[in-house]
Amino acid sequence: MTSTSEAMDTGDLIARAEEGLGLARPEIVHLLSLDDPAEIEALYQAADRVRRRCVGDEVHLRGVIEFSNHCRNNCTYCGLRRDNAKLARYRMEDDEIVECALGIAEGPCGTVVLQAGEDPAFTAERLCGIISAIRARTPLAVTLSVGRWPYEDLKAFRDAGASRYLLRHETANASLYESLCPGRRLSDRIECIRHLKRLGFETGMGCMVGLPGQTVEDLASDILLMQEMDADMIGIGPFIPHGDTPLAGHPPGDAEMVLKMLAVTRLVTRDTNIPATTALGVLRAEARKRAFFAGANVFMPVYTPKKYAPDYQIYPGKAVSVHEDMPLQEVVDYFSSIGRPIGAGHGARRKR
Ligand code: SAH
Ligand code: SF4
Repeated sequence: MTSTSEAMDTGDLIARAEEGLGLARPEIVHLLSLDDPAEIEALYQAADRVRRRCVGDEVHLRGVIEFSNHCRNNCTYCGLRRDNAKLARYRMEDDEIVECALGIAEGPCGTVVLQAGEDPAFTAERLCGIISAIRARTPLAVTLSVGRWPYEDLKAFRDAGASRYLLRHETANASLYESLCPGRRLSDRIECIRHLKRLGFETGMGCMVGLPGQTVEDLASDILLMQEMDADMIGIGPFIPHGDTPLAGHPPGDAEMVLKMLAVTRLVTRDTNIPATTALGVLRAEARKRAFFAGANVFMPVYTPKKYAPDYQIYPGKAVSVHEDMPLQEVVDYFSSIGRPIGAGHGARRKR
């Protein structure tokens, strides 16, 4: 810890952050570095109060369809990377995707998230057809999580009826990003995020925690970048090593650090939609629950058909879907038992 952070009074800092006075970089670093359990708990409680004040008690559900695990990229952390020859690849048919969305529309989710690797078989035109079919046949908001695309294609997705887009920046440390994503530049990813904002998408950013070589300063940069870009949705999860990737031997991210990141992000960004990510649940099931007491307000159940879900191996252990391990009724009952009703409608960002 720096001498500045030692001089800081944690209680005062949390109180000021709770009021919405903003946090400077060393203050964020100080909060992320807390190791006293009572102070950490005070941080979570402040984030929980800000969550309640700024986005209410409702938990919004977004149903995820992982429609293809083909990817032309080679991100070193991800099991779907191009060079992973051990993965059995699948691609859903367009009709199958739309059918799956119809199933989601019958349940409590107001939003469908279409997620996949960057699969060249899904051209912009094809994706537009799927988006407009879902929009025509369901009341769902359509969110895309399909990686980087040129402006014109993003515009076509918007015109076809998609209203949200998740594109995590992964890490705000450009040299770390570039070492993890061969041939890719952080500045291009950020440019794409700017396009999304300009096109009027509700835009999701986010990062992994515990990437090899990542520092607490880097994590503070993640929060400041998401604040500066005015991200509407923020996905933060631990890095989880996948055995068939170059990062196989690296340790996973720390669940407590993920929770601290969620809490500080809530304090700084106020009214954003923040999920408790699947990756956090994979690391420690109970940590995913705790996220809802530390700033999170969104849950993303996986609706990928049973026959495909086990092969969407971004990281190991993630094949937890509503069909098997996590029936949606249990999830809904859990939230109702903790006084958190399921949000009706699309659950868009409220905006200040
Ligand atoms: N291809 C798209 C969407 C699918 S990947 C894209 O890259 O944007 C979705 C997210 O999974 C990524 O943004 C990344 O943050 C996360 N992810 C990938 N590999 C991971 C790993 N090993 N551990 C934790 N999260 C991972
Ligand atoms: Fe492809 Fe996304 Fe995985 Fe990178 S993180 S390899 S873009 S699926």
